Amino acid sequence: IANTPIQKLAPFLQNHTNRETPFLLIDSNRLRATCQTFLRAFSGDEVYFSMKANSTPAVLKIIAQEGIRFDAASYAEIDKLIRMGIPAEKIIFMAPTKIPADIERAYLSGVRVFSFDSAMELQKLASLAPGARVMCRVAVGNEGSEWPLERKFGASALESAALLTKAAQLGLKPLGLTFHVGSQNRNPRAWRAAIEQCAQIWYVLADQGIQLEAIDAGGGFPSNYGKDYPAVEEIAAVIHQALAQLLPPGTRLMVEPGRGLVAECGVLVTSVINRAHRAGQEWLYVDASAYHGLVEAMQGFTFPIRTEKDLAPRAPFVLCGPTCDSTDVIQENVLLPATLGLGDRLYLLTTGAYTTSMEHYNGFQFPSTVIE
Ligand code: PLP
Repeated sequence: IANTPIQKLAPFLQNHTNRETPFLLIDSNRLRATCQTFLRAFSGDEVYFSMKANSTPAVLKIIAQEGIRFDAASYAEIDKLIRMGIPAEKIIFMAPTKIPADIERAYLSGVRVFSFDSAMELQKLASLAPGARVMCRVAVGNEGSEWPLERKFGASALESAALLTKAAQLGLKPLGLTFHVGSQNRNPRAWRAAIEQCAQIWYVLADQGIQLEAIDAGGGFPSNYGKDYPAVEEIAAVIHQALAQLLPPGTRLMVEPGRGLVAECGVLVTSVINRAHRAGQEWLYVDASAYHGLVEAMQGFTFPIRTEKDLAPRAPFVLCGPTCDSTDVIQENVLLPATLGLGDRLYLLTTGAYTTSMEHYNGFQFPSTVIE
């Protein structure tokens, strides 16, 4: 996509020249094609869309129609799916830390697969989702990830084995092991290393008479932000080879792509609303913000950007949002057409994931205000 003009990348944009910015345009054909790419790469396995990446109902509907199931992070997400007619058997509740009432409501709705990574979460599941199928989230290396999910999540190998033994004693049904190699992981070997870790736990438990059934290889599938990245087929081949070499035949494989399914289907359309020269730098203000969908920009993610003036000579800009906060910077030192001015549109590519879904991320609402 390095030098392809926006008109070629997204011809459907011409239908929206008068639409007020900012808006996220989703290419539904591309979304359907990406779903099929994942289903082909993981044929015979179970593909769950991690809906925290994009929870717009129309997006979820397309993904469901293509035959993909769902990974939810809260009861609000589960409720949204059930109201759309998605059967509970197609939903797994894989946030390792869940609000107790959410576990109960999910269980009453028919959801039966849950993850956990601590003794306390296991106790919660045993009392609020009796007999449910549980997967232990294992802490694995996140090497190669641009949005690591280390530290906060996952039990050590030793702890995972002990917790799954405990799960069985509590009347829960140990289903398997789950992990996440970190989001936007461009290193397929990370999945291999994680499966090696899981295999050790698997056989320790087998020796104790606990037969696991499944490995959930999580998300992490990378998208195009302008750097090289492996295709989903390449990562799938590494995962399949690791399973064949390290785990018993018939081991079920689950995957939970979020970003990889939706990121490249989205173009965030935004307009220039101000420009200023400050301390030797040229600042360009647009009507999209790091607080309104571009939160990953604050962690250093850079989105490929196109404009209608891409043939003009370039100059370095600090690109920022309109909010009254100096951390609302979308990208430092970005080369853009020098002539950009009021009203010119900027098209931010690869913005279909973790943008609009940040509004009520994971389905959680902001705290309400009570005035006494
Ligand atoms: N599964 C779980 C449990 C997650 O927490 C996440 C992301 O946070 C995902 C899947 C999706 O990850 P990604 O968007 O990197 O594919």
